[in-house]
Amino acid sequence: MKLVKFGGSSCASAEQFKKVREIVFSDPARRYVVVSAPGKRFPKDEKVTDLLYLLYEDLREGRGMERQLPKIERRYREIIDGLSLSLSLEEDFREIRERLLAGESCAYAASRGEYLNAKLMAEYLGFPFLDAGELIAFRPDGECDFRETERRVGERLRDMEKAVIPGFYGLDPEGRTVTFSRGGSDVTGSLIAAGLHADLYENWTDVSGFLVADPRIVRKPEVIDYITYRELRELSYMGASVLHEDAIFPVRKEGIPIQIKNTNRPEDHGTMIVANTLKKPRFIITGIAGKKNFCSINIEKAMMNSEIGFIRKVLSVIEENGISVEHTPSGIDTMTLFIHQEELISNEQKVLQGIQRAVNPDLIELEADLALIAVVGRGMKSARGVAGRVMSALAHDYINIKMIDQGSSEYNIIIGVRNEDFEAAIRAIYNMFVLSAS
Ligand code: ADP
Ligand code: ASP
Ligand code: MG
Repeated sequence: MKLVKFGGSSCASAEQFKKVREIVFSDPARRYVVVSAPGKRFPKDEKVTDLLYLLYEDLREGRGMERQLPKIERRYREIIDGLSLSLSLEEDFREIRERLLAGESCAYAASRGEYLNAKLMAEYLGFPFLDAGELIAFRPDGECDFRETERRVGERLRDMEKAVIPGFYGLDPEGRTVTFSRGGSDVTGSLIAAGLHADLYENWTDVSGFLVADPRIVRKPEVIDYITYRELRELSYMGASVLHEDAIFPVRKEGIPIQIKNTNRPEDHGTMIVANTLKKPRFIITGIAGKKNFCSINIEKAMMNSEIGFIRKVLSVIEENGISVEHTPSGIDTMTLFIHQEELISNEQKVLQGIQRAVNPDLIELEADLALIAVVGRGMKSARGVAGRVMSALAHDYINIKMIDQGSSEYNIIIGVRNEDFEAAIRAIYNMFVLSAS
């Protein structure tokens, strides 16, 4: 039995709904379907979820609902008309208006995108609709209660042969709507697959699998056939946004593989995400991903290494300011902290003063506008000279490396470069390991 999840662009229009139906009906194991809100139909198009956030903002600022709501209604009406469905969402829209006027939350507004789309998909496939509120349980602190969710999924879906379920949201114990962060329908799919003990979680999107690099940076990157959960987690954490980073844990625990598939090219194999595999990766590296907008705090003090508790004292200052640290490469007399720039900016002076008082360093330097790039791969452990090749690829393209950090797991190498060198650095690494190897 398979749990299938279709992303925003896969159910953005009547035409896409037809592809979904074809896919679902071509395999009787595809019994449970999770859908996102309608996404983009073309590059400049608007996502319904974005429109819903704008709608909420308009309401809060006293601008009313007429700027966004008609656009949203039109998106669904086009799907209904394009598929000649007999269902009407008028009653649902009336309720949404009423509840928003009565002060419903932003999460409620945002969740309606998947709610309405799942209703349409259920009607079109002839499957029962099941509201995510009955399955996805959030705790009062806003975090998802995985165990309770899996229990409910097991119980509620036991007697349902088939179902269409909206992604992205659930309810807390008070019955308030809570959403995951953006892209969270992937998490819904993963939780339901785990609760069902599904054999496979198929995640249908608009690319033929997880690609070695972001297709918006590298032209036509190669597809990764097999990737381990661990490699994937490193890549999604570092910005490869194909799959929400929290979508890994629930299925990993149950040993359920995830297959990334392309709704527009269902014949393509896609990417299998597995716990372990003997399959050799096609290249030494499995993937490259990265994020911009970090800054570094470089701390120097003679004899730092022999000063007991130095690192702890510095880290407690950071912790007291509620900042998370990404990387801490260090030398004998130096230590560097890589931090999200946004997190530091608001209490920069407090942090600097705290470090000054805690460890009395000889020098503190700040550097802004840095990017971090992760080169990830299970094959790196057994290959010699990977870090060396990364460095020479970057040197060859005149890119200055700010930091290089190889984790002890030898699963990844993290490289720091300037924001403006980010794209060029990814292309240089891709060319070195993939283009010149294929
Ligand atoms: P969905 O709406 O189906 O959930 P997403 O937009 O969340 O789809 O994810 C798919 C997109 O992720 C692709 O269209 C692509 O632009 C982007 N992407 C970024 N990095 C990668 C990568 N390494 N491999 C594949 N796609 C990537
Ligand atoms: N519709 C939501 C978003 O745009 C959730 C999702 O698509 O996974 O973020
Ligand atoms: Mg997504």
